[in-house]
Amino acid sequence: MATLDGLPDRVSIYEVGARDGLQNESVVVDVATKIEFIHRLIASGLRAVELTSFVPPSWIPQLADAEVLLAGLGELDGRYPVLVPNQRGLDRALSSGVREIAVFASATETFAQRNLNRSREESLAIFTDVAARALDAGLAVRGYVSMCFGDPWEGDVQPAAVADVVERLVAMGCGEVSLGDTIGVATPGQVVALLDELRRRGVGPDRLAVHFHDTYGQALANTLCALQHGVTTVDASAGGLGGCPYAGSATGNLATEDLVWHLQGLGIETGVDLESLCRTSLWMAERLGRPSPSRTVTALAASLEG
Ligand code: MG
Repeated sequence: MATLDGLPDRVSIYEVGARDGLQNESVVVDVATKIEFIHRLIASGLRAVELTSFVPPSWIPQLADAEVLLAGLGELDGRYPVLVPNQRGLDRALSSGVREIAVFASATETFAQRNLNRSREESLAIFTDVAARALDAGLAVRGYVSMCFGDPWEGDVQPAAVADVVERLVAMGCGEVSLGDTIGVATPGQVVALLDELRRRGVGPDRLAVHFHDTYGQALANTLCALQHGVTTVDASAGGLGGCPYAGSATGNLATEDLVWHLQGLGIETGVDLESLCRTSLWMAERLGRPSPSRTVTALAASLEG
């Protein structure tokens, strides 16, 4: 097979459908369905699955069942982080036996205020304390940075502004930092500019993950560029679950199936069984009462039915 230069042999897919995906879906999914969904994701070969979020139940009613969900899932083999916004969320995560948490920072001031109800600086201060306590308890910590390329209120986001936040997350002990294109506006040149800026500051691609949204159809082009620049962890959402509430578009997260199809074609190992994953997304689409926005799920659906 012909191949491209500078690609890894293997990519770790970080599955966000159960958290980032479902939290942006309007149909509330019951906990038994979520448990089955997560078991099916794992059965299809995914080994890093973000499970839920310990935000106050009033913030995101869809994820108010976090404790019940974790108790129902039982012991799992792999990496299963949960999102934690503050100390109270960390208390809940620790009581539930979680081994990895994720904190969600913003590259821009406006999104920090709107999404976290705090300034960028205030939220980073809170995450610093949360991360310190989590690390003390033996947990791993992942950091997210949202609005890394563009922000609906502030427009273009400069690599230096993003890199400042990434450095703070690394300094507080985040083992991995995920660069989020929350509204899906990035194109490959911006991705390379940010990765170069981070490399100049000593944050190499081994510490990074990328989190692209497909609003303008650029998610896979951006992913390919990131892989050629050394990134080997890619966030994706089964079936493309989760529109982006800030982009005013139905197209949100990069679909895991589209990513797997892309990587398979390049001969890159993911450990994921594409057919099994598509069946799961078709099953979930039925429960949500709408078709999956994933091109790959749509293309394979006819041959998988029956
Ligand atoms: Mg997302």
